Amino acid sequence: MDFDDTEEEAAFRAEVHAWMTANARERDPGQLATSHSFYDFDDIFVKEGKLWQHRIYDGGYAGITWPVEFGGRGGSFVEAMIFREEEAKFDVASGLFAVGIGMAGPTIIGHGTDEQRRRFLPAMLRGEEVWCQLFSEPGAGSDLASLSTRAVRDGDEWTIDGQKVWSSGAHHSDMGILLARTDPEAPKHRGITFFLLDMRSPGVEVRPLRQMTGGATFNEVFLTDVRVPAANVVGEVNGGWRATMTTLANERTAGRGTSSFPQILQLARECGSTTDPILRQRLADCFIKSEISRYLGFRIQTALSKGMSSPETSVAKLLFALSAKETAELTLSLQGPLGMLSGEAAPGHGFWQQQFLSAPSFRIAAGSDEIQRNIIGERVLGLPGDVRADKDVPFKDLVR
Ligand SMILES: Cc1cc2nc3c(=O)[nH]c(=O)nc-3n(C[C@H](O)[C@H](O)[C@H](O)COP(=O)(O)OP(=O)(O)OC[C@H]3O[C@@H](n4cnc5c(N)ncnc54)[C@H](O)[C@@H]3O)c2cc1C
Repeated sequence: MDFDDTEEEAAFRAEVHAWMTANARERDPGQLATSHSFYDFDDIFVKEGKLWQHRIYDGGYAGITWPVEFGGRGGSFVEAMIFREEEAKFDVASGLFAVGIGMAGPTIIGHGTDEQRRRFLPAMLRGEEVWCQLFSEPGAGSDLASLSTRAVRDGDEWTIDGQKVWSSGAHHSDMGILLARTDPEAPKHRGITFFLLDMRSPGVEVRPLRQMTGGATFNEVFLTDVRVPAANVVGEVNGGWRATMTTLANERTAGRGTSSFPQILQLARECGSTTDPILRQRLADCFIKSEISRYLGFRIQTALSKGMSSPETSVAKLLFALSAKETAELTLSLQGPLGMLSGEAAPGHGFWQQQFLSAPSFRIAAGSDEIQRNIIGERVLGLPGDVRADKDVPFKDLVR
């Protein structure tokens, strides 16, 4: 198998690299993180992220895999991956549009009306509107279909009441993709409708949640008598689960960035840890997992580019979350007693300490470890399905 770029891919990479060089500052070899990243999700990240997306749009690289008729480039998954790999070498505020362009956009393309496509897609690509995902609730995460936020039709509008949680970036979002129950008489998957919510609507209250990293990237969102136009329903009323599947499939196949192993090796050298027999074992282990992740990424992109679904996404997600935890622990061990410091006092300005505190969340976000294992068990190993006794029971009769 040949993992090198084809002639066309190499030409595209060179073109992207030249464009990046003309439009952004390359990261210093020792620079661990971009100056403004998703982990901050503050005013500056939002401002810089919008400017950067607009520049990508002007350069003709916005929505690489989106069809041309919807303002995209009509390119391949491999081209999108090449763009991400090259972008990661530069100090730019990327990731602000992960929900918008990465998830809401493809869902609107697949299930939305022409009017919705005209209204929302160009604004996303130009970096004008930030989107958040309002799916999870205090009582509905892994079992998303048990959500209880309620929407009731009232003339040309819907009235929405309920609570969402874990809503990343909601405090800086203009729009949200929202799931609400519209038919409690139907079984749980069949009474849900998919809405596009203007986050500035009266009755939307966003409360940031402080995390152990010190940052506040996600929120609780309270919805009280929120009015949403009927024109903002995506797909069929009560048939929102189909659109939801498109959103979640796009979330699972989102790229996970490039390997940080070269920086970890550099850290080991700087800290004089390369002769420690135990740390050497852990370094080799970290390298092996980083390579497996890379090759899994290639397999996934290959399957997707052929229009095939790829169960490797669950394997890759599991490995990513596990490796993030092990890698973070390793980097603090490499630092010895300095690993106990944080912020500016710590090596790398506390970057690895931040990674250490963020890593546990990766095992929950976008489908927990256990859910990924269930998917692998059912779809790859052919094991009997998870117990779903409530699948056909009307939602209103479920014990919650
Ligand atoms: C960093 C981060 C960002 C997030 N951002 C968003 C966002 O922007 N928008 C949004 O809507 N949501 C977001 N989420 C929420 C995320 O999707 C949920 O946390 C996740 O689906 C798990 O749901 P839960 O927290 O309710 O846990 P639960 O579903 O209650 O799970 C609790 C535990 O039980 C296990 N479990 C549950 N069901 C099974 C089963 N059938 N078999 C075996 N074990 C099981 C789980 O693995 C877990 O260990 C985010 C989460 C994190 C951590």
